[in-house]
Amino acid sequence: MTKTNDPIDVYDLSGGLHPRHGHSLRVAYVGPTGSHADRALNRYVNRTGSSVEPIACRDILDSLLAVHSGEVDRAFVPWRNALGGSIQDSLDAVLELGLVIVGAELAPVRQCLAAAVAMPMHAIRNVASHPEALRQCRRLLRRIPGATRQPTNSTSAAARALASAREEGHERAQQDAVICDPNTAKRLQLVVLESDAADHPDNQTLFVMVARDGLTDLRLGADEEVPNLWRTALAVTTLHRAGALARCLSLLSEAGVQLTALESRPLVGRPWEIQFAMEAEGHAGSEALMSGLLAIREEVMHIRVLGSWQQGSEPQPQASKVAPPVAVSASLSSADKPVHGKVTKDVRLAVLTEGRARTIVRVKGVDIGGHPFVLIGGPCSVENKEQVDTVAAAVRNAGGRVLRGGAFKPRTSPYAFQGLGESGLELLAEAGRKHGLPVVTEVMRPEQVELCARHADMLQVGARNMQNFPLLSELGGCQRPILLKRGMSASLDELLAAAEYILVRGNTQVILCERGIRTFETATRSTLDLSAVPVLLERTHLPIIVDPSHAAGVRRWVPALAKAAKAVGAHGIIVEIHPNPEEALSDGPQALTLPMWEALARDLLA
Ligand code: PEP
Ligand code: MN
Repeated sequence: MTKTNDPIDVYDLSGGLHPRHGHSLRVAYVGPTGSHADRALNRYVNRTGSSVEPIACRDILDSLLAVHSGEVDRAFVPWRNALGGSIQDSLDAVLELGLVIVGAELAPVRQCLAAAVAMPMHAIRNVASHPEALRQCRRLLRRIPGATRQPTNSTSAAARALASAREEGHERAQQDAVICDPNTAKRLQLVVLESDAADHPDNQTLFVMVARDGLTDLRLGADEEVPNLWRTALAVTTLHRAGALARCLSLLSEAGVQLTALESRPLVGRPWEIQFAMEAEGHAGSEALMSGLLAIREEVMHIRVLGSWQQGSEPQPQASKVAPPVAVSASLSSADKPVHGKVTKDVRLAVLTEGRARTIVRVKGVDIGGHPFVLIGGPCSVENKEQVDTVAAAVRNAGGRVLRGGAFKPRTSPYAFQGLGESGLELLAEAGRKHGLPVVTEVMRPEQVELCARHADMLQVGARNMQNFPLLSELGGCQRPILLKRGMSASLDELLAAAEYILVRGNTQVILCERGIRTFETATRSTLDLSAVPVLLERTHLPIIVDPSHAAGVRRWVPALAKAAKAVGAHGIIVEIHPNPEEALSDGPQALTLPMWEALARDLLA
């Protein structure tokens, strides 16, 4: 975070936003003192009675990175302008960093055209300002067509640079102009050439208060009956199917959700996949939004509630209940009847209800969850380039659709090979690209999710981590399908509850995997519980695959169990393969040789 040199003012107001340890909340904003954001923050503080220590930052991204890193408690950034539309820097960073909106302030914004010296409009050579401010003043800029436009980090940065140029006797001070707040112009003794530079006098910006996580500061109170006082921001990644967006919109409208904004934003690192940023009337906890979000789950890969805030500047009602904006509508209505059994309070979103379609998880173009039966194969651990390349070629040639390979290995012994880490991910991704196969790899810790998601098309939760709840929650926020393995002592209810942790955070793309459980039997490494497949097919809409390798622990039993998995209705299998199992750094005894794999694939795909 780059702080500006301006002195930091402390707003000494009591009450408000639950400051931690009795201290003020440290709030990053785009400075310096007197900037648009500073004045809007002042309004917010006065209105809410919050105790805030403002920290001036250089730009929007710095402010949001500061809240992401935990350096400050909140960031207060512009979100939408009445003339220029949404503020892309804020929207993209909130989406990418997984931040949450917890409050908002609608503030009037004035822009003026100012220069270091009085000059006629046609003499201006260059106009500097924040790109969003330039966008708000398009009509004025059309009147000086010869002037170049220079983007800056903030409107105040432009004004300050011009004031310094004048002090240093720079020639450009005689030719340049800036668009900035009239107060800033006055403070820096700039000459105002045009006092109302924006395209329309009714120029307003909605500023939002952003946190790393947590609940909305603005309480869901008595005014729930007046839903249009509330706004909720959502990010929705639709399935790659024709008409998915249209179906989402009509489901939302049937649920009574009134959208107030919709725009598409690219997904970083996933060319041509699109997420939609939406804003709707009402609180995330309102009935219309809860049922609308539940209804669209079948059409989306990922939903995120970015937060709810109260539109306008009325004082806040007293606290009553607070809806968690990040958990996505997990209640089933009384109209939802499970196909079999009861909906338990622990498992709601994973349940197969009457009329609900089965989830098909698409892993980079490979559909899992229906027909055809999908083969996933690869080494237990990625060991070196040649090994993973040889196996990938064999997987592809035999009709396998996804390549597996571990880079972070959960080993029972700390002395065993722990995986190649990031270089293993790179080798796996490279082999996948070369042979046209999406790749799946295991992730063990929440902090590894981002790295693994950068390299892999699907992320695996291993048996040992099925109840690693922070990991599951993190995966719920990520835009990758998840392969969730059953813990070796986990019941099917516990497996479904673990899936629920991912689903409730907005990721709808979860595949369950039966991989054997601990019983008194020691002949096999684990006991493959094939009855899990028909039971789960009745109880959940999520796809189910079987891992016969870790269950058997012995390669010669793997083909029979793989065929049995298909016979009981699984949607696919995941098996371990090694070019030279005797030399494997992990799980060699259960790895299929290449000829065994080829024969198995022939049988299963016949
Ligand atoms: C693996 O897939 O290599 C693995 C460690 O599996 P599990 O978590 O099922 O033991
Ligand atoms: Mn293994």
